[in-house]
Amino acid sequence: MASARVDLDGNPIKPITICMIGAGGFIGSHLCEKLMAETLHKVLAVDVYSDKIKHLLEPSSLPWADRIQFHRLNIKNDSRLEGLIRISDLVIFFLSSFMCLCSRVSDIALEFASNIINLAAICTPADYNTRPLDTIYSNFIDALPVIKYCSENGKRLIHFSTCEVYGKTIGCFLPKDSPLRQDPAYYVLSEDSSPCIFGPIEKQRWSYACAKQLVERLIYAEGAENGLEFTIVRPFNWIGPRMDFIPGIDGPSEGVPRVLACFSNNLLRREPLKLVDGGESQRTFVYIKDAIEAVLLMIENPSRANGQIFNVGNPNNEVTVRQLAEMMTQVYSTVSNEPSLSTPTIDISSKEFYGEGYDDSDKRIPDMTIINRQLGWNPKTSLWDLLESTLTYQHRTYAEAVKKATSKPVAS
Ligand code: NAD
Ligand code: UDP
Repeated sequence: MASARVDLDGNPIKPITICMIGAGGFIGSHLCEKLMAETLHKVLAVDVYSDKIKHLLEPSSLPWADRIQFHRLNIKNDSRLEGLIRISDLVIFFLSSFMCLCSRVSDIALEFASNIINLAAICTPADYNTRPLDTIYSNFIDALPVIKYCSENGKRLIHFSTCEVYGKTIGCFLPKDSPLRQDPAYYVLSEDSSPCIFGPIEKQRWSYACAKQLVERLIYAEGAENGLEFTIVRPFNWIGPRMDFIPGIDGPSEGVPRVLACFSNNLLRREPLKLVDGGESQRTFVYIKDAIEAVLLMIENPSRANGQIFNVGNPNNEVTVRQLAEMMTQVYSTVSNEPSLSTPTIDISSKEFYGEGYDDSDKRIPDMTIINRQLGWNPKTSLWDLLESTLTYQHRTYAEAVKKATSKPVAS
């Protein structure tokens, strides 16, 4: 029961108010869902979009209706944000402006958020080399007022960074036939010992990783010099329902989402899956619902999570991108009851797919020592199982719409 929740040290957990920036995205939507279904915490959800959390906001008869409020705000250029950075309490501003806008003002509007979770970011690789300025501004500059605000006002900050801050593994610089490539010391990524290895500046792919790394260093320094209570999360390819968009259905036709949505789109349209540079890069994928368990542990165990940087991934779910494509093709065929294509994949160069300046992380195996020690968290779901539930969702949500879109007569 939500009311009987205890932390990892056996202490009862008091309900808190969380200001979640980027709550309308993939991770935010799952975190809001978890917080509403399983806890008594309150959420002030901030985003420019609310489609992915609409089911949590309406109708007003939902059992958690008085515990979640959506605030449509672009933290980049909303003049209200400038105002609230100047005044002493961000949350008072959120609440008072909300009170003016909304007819349903509940008790929540009288409370202050004690925790800030920042998820807002441009975080699709297709943007890193084609919109490097937006990427750097979104991931670095736009995070600054939030960090400053938390530091100056004694708010706890949970900031979402990325596994991409590790960049490339040391092992990838060894000769192809070196036996050291098999030695975990050359590829496992550890929060407190691995270096961050990025490519040259002209490889603008690294604009995102570099911006995220500098934000991590800033947050860490605010902790060291000014006592900011923080937790930094480094997600390792979290995937599941509601991730990104299907081009031409609920996102731009020319848009390039992350790999799960790219491959889902290909499968839905019965086109070959495109393997960038042969699909040799390796990734570990973790099910969003497992990963959200880890975030909830961080929220509810501040004494164990504060001052920490956490890898959150599933080291057991490693595949090459080619293997991912093959597995998704197989799973989708069982989910949709349609036979696979005779040519299920095609190779494409990164220049053709992403344009100039793309580069890639070769391999991403998270070291789980710190999250295990501090929070006792382990992922549970196998890659096959998480693809089965995710592709069932994709098929149910999009198959009809894709069929309709592809059968429309072309205007003469
Ligand atoms: P997402 O794109 O689905 O969610 C980000 C949300 O932030 C979006 O809803 C977007 O509208 C919002 N946002 C962006 N700029 C904003 C602004 N200026 N004002 C208000 N809202 C704004 O991405 P996600 O997968 O949910 O990722 C969330 C965080 O986790 C990001 O910081 C990302 O870098 C990090 N991350 C995620 C993964 C993953 O596996 N999903 C991997 C590495 C890092
Ligand atoms: N990728 C691919 N085909 C696609 C989309 C992505 O081969 O249609 C590759 C991409 O080059 C990368 C991997 O899949 O090696 C994962 O890409 P994603 O966009 O999910 O983000 P990343 O893990 O690189 O942050």
